[in-house]
Amino acid sequence: MLAGRRLHFASLSRRIAVLYTLLFGLVLASIMVLVNHGIQRFAENAATRDLAAHARVFDEILELRARQMRGSADVLSRDFGFREAVATDDAATISSALANLQTRSNASAAFVIGLDASVTGSGRSALPSAESMWSALDEGQERGVIEIGGKLALAAASPVEAPDLLGWLVLAQPLDAAEMSRLGRLAALGVEARVRAKQALPDGIAAMPLGQVSHLLTENEHLYRVSALPSLANGVEPRLVLRHSLQATLAEYTSLRLLLGLFAGLGLALVILLSGRIARSIASPISRLDLAARAMAQGRARHVQVDSEDEVGRLATSFNHMVDAIEEREKRITHVALHDGLTNLPNRKLFVGQLQSALERRHADERIMVVYVDLDDFKVVNDTLGHPFGDSLLCRVAEDLKARIPDAVVARMGGDEFAIMLNRLGPQSSIPALADNLQACFGQGIEIEGQLADASASLGIAIAPADGLDSETLMKNADLALYRAKREGKGTHHFFETALDEQAQKRRRMELDLRTAIRDGQFEMNFQPLYSLKEDRLKAFEALIRWPHPELGMISPAEFIPLAEETGLIIPIGEWVIRESCRQAAAWPDDLSVAVNVSPKQFMTPNLPAVILQALTTSGLAPQRLELEITESIFIANVDTTLATLHRLRELGVRIALDDFGTGYSSLSYLRSFPFDKLKIDQSFVTDLLNGGNSGAVIRAIIALADALGMETLAEGVEEKIQADILAREGCRQIQGYLLSRPMHGADVAGFVAGLYGQSWNRSKRA
Ligand code: C2E
Ligand code: CA
Ligand code: CA
Repeated sequence: MLAGRRLHFASLSRRIAVLYTLLFGLVLASIMVLVNHGIQRFAENAATRDLAAHARVFDEILELRARQMRGSADVLSRDFGFREAVATDDAATISSALANLQTRSNASAAFVIGLDASVTGSGRSALPSAESMWSALDEGQERGVIEIGGKLALAAASPVEAPDLLGWLVLAQPLDAAEMSRLGRLAALGVEARVRAKQALPDGIAAMPLGQVSHLLTENEHLYRVSALPSLANGVEPRLVLRHSLQATLAEYTSLRLLLGLFAGLGLALVILLSGRIARSIASPISRLDLAARAMAQGRARHVQVDSEDEVGRLATSFNHMVDAIEEREKRITHVALHDGLTNLPNRKLFVGQLQSALERRHADERIMVVYVDLDDFKVVNDTLGHPFGDSLLCRVAEDLKARIPDAVVARMGGDEFAIMLNRLGPQSSIPALADNLQACFGQGIEIEGQLADASASLGIAIAPADGLDSETLMKNADLALYRAKREGKGTHHFFETALDEQAQKRRRMELDLRTAIRDGQFEMNFQPLYSLKEDRLKAFEALIRWPHPELGMISPAEFIPLAEETGLIIPIGEWVIRESCRQAAAWPDDLSVAVNVSPKQFMTPNLPAVILQALTTSGLAPQRLELEITESIFIANVDTTLATLHRLRELGVRIALDDFGTGYSSLSYLRSFPFDKLKIDQSFVTDLLNGGNSGAVIRAIIALADALGMETLAEGVEEKIQADILAREGCRQIQGYLLSRPMHGADVAGFVAGLYGQSWNRSKRA
């Protein structure tokens, strides 16, 4: 179970350190155990050897003592007087001589054993019986252990002869504890010696083999050596027991063991210290890699510094390469995300970000100029010269801008729109001069592969702080100013004014209302008569849309048609106008036509012919009774497409009139490219007739040209009789205006027609 578990540490270095320490500790502990065991064995061996040596010393000491006593005894036993006394059994003399000897020889007992088994002697304790010693003495034993008063004693016997054996003189010395330790001290030995009768020994010791060192584990680990001593008395089996404490021997090695322990402790401490350092040196580059990888994950790219050339070093190098590669890729991705693919200019997102941070860093007296740029008629360039040319033109404009205003941030907002930011404009910078400068950047045409293209542009300008303090407001306001600049004519710039904002809001409101109006069918058609001066009769009605707004009342088409045109809402509105006009006109007398206005955007929709055809079929109106009024602006788009559409419409059998003629810039050239059925002379010329201008001459020239090209002419906005007279004199064929009638509700047309003829529809129908 445990073996399967892993050591769990959060840090690699700690794991290495702990493992190292454990390993070293284990090795050290086993060494310690071995050494300790060795010491023990060594001490034991030494003690055994010592004990054996001590035993010999003790044997010799006892032997020496016995011989000493024998010597002393010999002196007395050979003494003539003493022998006499023994021979004569002179007890008094014997006793005094024995007492003398006992004192001299420092023995504890001296006595004479006579052949008659008498025991005469001195001594404190009771003397042994002669019988007990007989057999030993008879066998010629002269030294040995006897028992005196229940205690063992070392004895030496000397024969008393005169010259025949009279008896034995015995000198004895008890082998009690005090004597034995005295002898031990004499031998200068660290052993405890005892002489005991075999029977008195504890069983364990009594069973020990004689003359060998034995180890007794009980009793605090002692070594024992038991040896037999010669016995001078019957029934006494004396044993010399030497005891040596192993503990004492081992104690001599305590300092050695302490020293070893100390070294082991030091070693362990050193190992802990070193393994910590080693672990750190292994783990620190890895943890640095770990930190760097984590930083990387949080988007903070950073290199790892590892100097080694081993695996970790190589890993660090690979890691650093990876960091570089990721950074590089991130930079590329960020660049792509924040730049325009075609021109490589910053895109809207980057521009907004830079504008925002410029606004945040702006000092109180500094201004920031935001310019919206829209190339004039870029669509025409694209349509006529092709998209690749259009792309090249955009790139050239981008390069030119960067080169001419290096301090500015130039961005492409999409399509043909650019944005420019001029930052840190101090109080002395002249905004109008800067604007003129910028406008001048777009003045010249740009030549690309031999083709010259007009790169004029309209600019809308907003300035922080006056026109806004955040990027969104500033950009919206610059856009509004651009819108105004576009409407005021191309190649100009316009500064933002608060009024523009209000207008924009009004426009937004109106756009929403327009959508509602389309959905709810709020529109109505009004009709204004067109009268032929030449034939002196009503020829047609122009269909004019009306929007009775539920809250704002009647809204003029002059107001909402341009908005519908811009927002594309003109398409559904225009279709409805065509259908509704055809439907109503179908009910009119056959000689009355209806003229319907077709806006440029509507004209451009590919399905216009289909819409018209459908309106004609559904209403049953004859195609020649439908007249389409278009303006010159349709020629700004691709001329070929425009002409193709005009021809297709003509093929349907409808008539085509050119509206507001004379206000466009190159009106006359269009007349040659397409045979219009009618020219509608703009009402400004007619108004001018009464102001004494030269419009009379212009009108005359237009009529002459139209006559030459076989086109009809109509003068718009005729309010006074005198205008009608002049126009009739100049040869204008038709007139339209308040003089005849204001635009009327569809329901009033029948009455108007009847009134004008003073007769009924039927008559008109017949005519
Ligand atoms: P427009 O095509 O030039 O239409 C003639 C405009 O002159 C009409 O204004 C008409 O009411 C006005 N008018 C007629 N006689 C006189 C006169 O004697 N004096 C003056 N001062 N004005 C006169 P309206 O109806 O307000 O239309 C304005 C413009 O709105 C039209 O100009 C036309 O361009 C456009 N429009 C009107 N209805 C439609 C429509 O159904 N579809 C499209 N696409 N445009 C329309
Ligand atoms: Ca018209
Ligand atoms: Ca007109």
